[in-house]
Amino acid sequence: MIVKLSELLKEAKKNRYGIPAFAVEDENCMRSAIEAAEEMKSPLIVLAGFKEYSDDKELRDLDYRTHTFLHYCEEASVPIALTRDHTYKYEDAIIGVKSGFQCIMADRSKLPFEENVAQVAEIVKVCHAAGVDVEAELGHVGLGLDLQNDGNVFTVPEEAAEYVKRTNCDSLAVSIGNAHGLYKGTPKLQFDRLEQLVNATDVPLVLHGATGIPEEDVTRACQSGICKVNVGTDTYMACRDGVLNADLSGSKVYGVFDAMYGSYKEVLKHWMTITGSAGKAA
Ligand SMILES: [Zn+2]
Repeated sequence: MIVKLSELLKEAKKNRYGIPAFAVEDENCMRSAIEAAEEMKSPLIVLAGFKEYSDDKELRDLDYRTHTFLHYCEEASVPIALTRDHTYKYEDAIIGVKSGFQCIMADRSKLPFEENVAQVAEIVKVCHAAGVDVEAELGHVGLGLDLQNDGNVFTVPEEAAEYVKRTNCDSLAVSIGNAHGLYKGTPKLQFDRLEQLVNATDVPLVLHGATGIPEEDVTRACQSGICKVNVGTDTYMACRDGVLNADLSGSKVYGVFDAMYGSYKEVLKHWMTITGSAGKAA
């Protein structure tokens, strides 16, 4: 069934667990993700649509994909919300609303504070009028490979409190030592900062760039107030490894898709376990 993301995250916040949000590329990924969630009795968050859509063909693709995903999600026995990840332009947020997403991420984290507040507050007004949630970002979650180059700007708790009040966003992505993509070295989450952020704000907090963070830290972060955990890179690596490690010799080559999507499904189940979302769909 399809639900508002804020409903899922409200439960997660109250009961101190995280819900993983997965990159879902196509129809077969979508079916595998639903199977994983149903087997684990876990709520599911789908990240679909990651880029800026510039021409009619791309927009038609986004519409087609979103409607296909929604069709499968409606029939699922677990609650599911679709999020349009990382939009940077007003137009892309509106396109996401029109396509049927339950949440739009409006990322203005590279802008100065006041600019970020002004642009996101405007998007929140429009999205809320359409019954759609908005995830915003304060501080900046950079690229893992850049961590050593100071690509990250950490989220300041006092600013986060003011930001949430003024934008009225539904959830907030924070920068506490996490980064997108593959990390250079082992990332260290700042649990002190997380605790201060949880105390300073009343919205569910989101962790982007979960791939590569030690499992026990993911679990601890979810128990400490992270409610949504974005997982991209790990799902792609699982697809790659599923195929590379399978015996596809001779006529076994027909198992290539099973190898890829089977491995994708298994890694999703693993994340549902370490975030604590397994068993929470009931
Ligand atoms: Zn992200």
